[in-house]
Amino acid sequence: MEAILNALKDALGADAVRTGNAIESRYLGDWSAKSAHAPLAVVLPRDTQEVATALRLCNAARQSVVPQGGLTGLAGGAVPTSRDVCISLERMTGIEEIDRSAATMTVRAGTTLQTIQEAADAAGFEFQLDLGARGTCQIGGNLATNAGGIRVIQSGTARDQVLGLEVVLADGSVLSAMGKMIKNNTGYDLRHLFIGSEGTLGIITRAVLRLAPRPAARHTALCALSGYESAVALLQTLKARLGRELSAFELMWPDFFEMGVAFSRSQQAPFSTAYPLYALIEHTSCADDRHDSLAQTLANQLEAGGLLDAIISQSAAQSQSLWEIREATAEFPVKLTPINFDISIPIGDIGRFVDACRAEFQSRWPASRSLFFGHIGDSNLHVTVDGRSIPGVAPDAVEQGVYDLVRAFQGSVSAEHGIGMHKRAFLGYTRSEAELACMRSIKHALDPNAILNPGKLLS
Ligand SMILES: Cc1cc2nc3c(=O)[nH]c(=O)nc-3n(C[C@H](O)[C@H](O)[C@H](O)COP(=O)(O)OP(=O)(O)OC[C@H]3O[C@@H](n4cnc5c(N)ncnc54)[C@H](O)[C@@H]3O)c2cc1C
Repeated sequence: MEAILNALKDALGADAVRTGNAIESRYLGDWSAKSAHAPLAVVLPRDTQEVATALRLCNAARQSVVPQGGLTGLAGGAVPTSRDVCISLERMTGIEEIDRSAATMTVRAGTTLQTIQEAADAAGFEFQLDLGARGTCQIGGNLATNAGGIRVIQSGTARDQVLGLEVVLADGSVLSAMGKMIKNNTGYDLRHLFIGSEGTLGIITRAVLRLAPRPAARHTALCALSGYESAVALLQTLKARLGRELSAFELMWPDFFEMGVAFSRSQQAPFSTAYPLYALIEHTSCADDRHDSLAQTLANQLEAGGLLDAIISQSAAQSQSLWEIREATAEFPVKLTPINFDISIPIGDIGRFVDACRAEFQSRWPASRSLFFGHIGDSNLHVTVDGRSIPGVAPDAVEQGVYDLVRAFQGSVSAEHGIGMHKRAFLGYTRSEAELACMRSIKHALDPNAILNPGKLLS
């Protein structure tokens, strides 16, 4: 161990390799707040070549490496053990270029999502990936997890917003595919191997991102609904009327909604009555005058029934206060002991799944407090159980119960947060043996010494 630490210090300089008490607590774990450990060292490279040098040395010494981005992950993917060397991308920040003709932005992997969004906006574009952790998560982490977020319904996941990628492989070689072309049918599309690989196949160091035109107007509506079927009907109507201008459709069951209101700054419920279900909708358009199309669609739905009430934001501040209810999840680690689930269920079955899940919780743990919400337009449901409401119950028992139901509904154990360390035991619920064998072959081909993020994603 001394030998590899000395080799890293010699090659990168002592200030780029932290050990012992010099390792700050933030490198020990991610937002899942499970199993935090002090690693052997934290390495802070300044550029791609330094990442390559660090990996070449670690590979030669068979030293395990954990890539770290903004550490907002919820699956334990960036959490080290005491034997690992962490490679943090936090010094590799900055936007290298905005190409107006190609509508692309070239960025370094450690740049935060919010910095990218703001730079795109200042240049008259929009970078459409968006999620609550925007201020801290890094684009390298977003790509490594193939992050989803609130605009997938409009623009797809992180994978759909990347044209080029630079990755350092386990042996220290640099794979640079930083093209700006949209069409490039020249064999295997290697980008997509690394996107969503959770740091197990290589370290992402740079990327070419796709930009969209900046919308002229953004309108938010909060809708009160009579039940899940009405929500699906509203979703389909909005998709048909607004097309790609429908940029978010977030569903909140009353248990989540009430907590979201309580955690928001105003603590004011937007409606005077409680309803069975709430949808937060966002409409973005390139023309200023499209506000009416959302208002008209909602008015028609109010007449038709199913939609019981609606508020359309009249200002950016009002829109923000509606979003605060949905983004209350940022408070969960502080105000709850969350046992989190990020699952996919076919859209038509989500209502029944929620009922089945709630019935399971009620029968096994009558005092349990559970919250249901999600990006329903993308078939993505989040479930949170507050561990404080079921003292003495092991989180494993709750996980087993939920994932058994996910399997019965033919869903996925991870919609967007990834498998990391926490969901590894359940990967086989969603992936076949043949798929797992193929994943292992790819891992072995690219990282034969298994130094990259061992114990994450695959066994
Ligand atoms: C309040 C909140 C809201 C969230 N909302 C969403 C949401 O809506 N949708 C969603 O998908 N996620 C969401 N997340 C989860 C999280 O923000 C995402 O998974 C995010 O993409 C992680 O980025 P990060 O930089 O923090 O990565 P980290 O947590 O540091 O790492 C995540 C994984 O990526 C790997 N990794 C990191 N950087 C690199 C790199 N440069 N090269 C290779 N591997 C790397 C790590 O090893 C690890 O396996 C949310 C989290 C919080 C706290």
